[in-house]
Amino acid sequence: MRQVYINGEFKKEDEAKVSIFDRGLLFSDSVYEVTSVINSKLIDFKYHVERLDRSMNELKFKTLIDHDEILAFHRKLIDLNNLKEGMIYTQVTRGVVDRSFDMPKQAIKPTVLAFTQEKKILESDTAKNGIKVMTLEDMRWKRNDIKTTQLLYASMAKSEATAKGFDDAWMLRQGYVTEGSSNNVWIIRSKNIMTRQSDNLILSGITRAVVLECAKKLDYEVITKNFTKVDAESADEAFMTSSTGLITPVIKINSSQIGDGKPGNFTKSLRAEYIKRVLEIAI
Ligand code: PMP
Repeated sequence: MRQVYINGEFKKEDEAKVSIFDRGLLFSDSVYEVTSVINSKLIDFKYHVERLDRSMNELKFKTLIDHDEILAFHRKLIDLNNLKEGMIYTQVTRGVVDRSFDMPKQAIKPTVLAFTQEKKILESDTAKNGIKVMTLEDMRWKRNDIKTTQLLYASMAKSEATAKGFDDAWMLRQGYVTEGSSNNVWIIRSKNIMTRQSDNLILSGITRAVVLECAKKLDYEVITKNFTKVDAESADEAFMTSSTGLITPVIKINSSQIGDGKPGNFTKSLRAEYIKRVLEIAI
């Protein structure tokens, strides 16, 4: 049984409890981060805690969680659960208060919880074989730059895709691809690597930012701009980025095979460079 973290304490997973009045539960008034663990080390940890601060500031939480404290419970969770490869999920809710649409004006104590989950990251089947995605309308709100736990539409989109035999959904606004259900999207056309610009309609992914650096290092040019569903379907290569998927090749979009239907060469070299880079700086 896993040991999890809740408000300063480590407990068995079936003993950790939150209040029924928690605003995270009642209003999705909460933010989260998912940090990868490889060889029992944290990947891109610093960027995750910085983004957690940003999400809390955007929702006007009146408190922040000390970064050393976050690092300490991450390390302890890795130890207690003997986690070699997988992820740590951390969630911070605004806290517990009587139900009201009006957010509390005074600072209240946030609820902080975290747990580990094992997952194959380096040698995953999806990295080896690539995935198939379908497009559907992006019906989410317009603040997807904040990493909130308001994830219902993303979950519905992913479920619709898997029910239809795909692995994930790429979402469209006015014909342009925004992002995947839980990842950023990239295509390669005539040696041009493209990823959508970051704005309020997508989460500015940490993997995306590091992959942009890796592409520079390999002397690849990346164009950060909108691309359409048609651009994606006719791409030479496509991939998506996320903390636990790293770089995952896409081999089919709707009914269109991408390239020769196998993970593309640019995608594979970028993934190798990304892995080299993050392992060097893992803590
Ligand atoms: N977009 C969305 C909607 C996501 O949920 C995620 C993963 N949390 C990402 C992009 C990728 O972000 P990151 O690389 O920081 O995991």
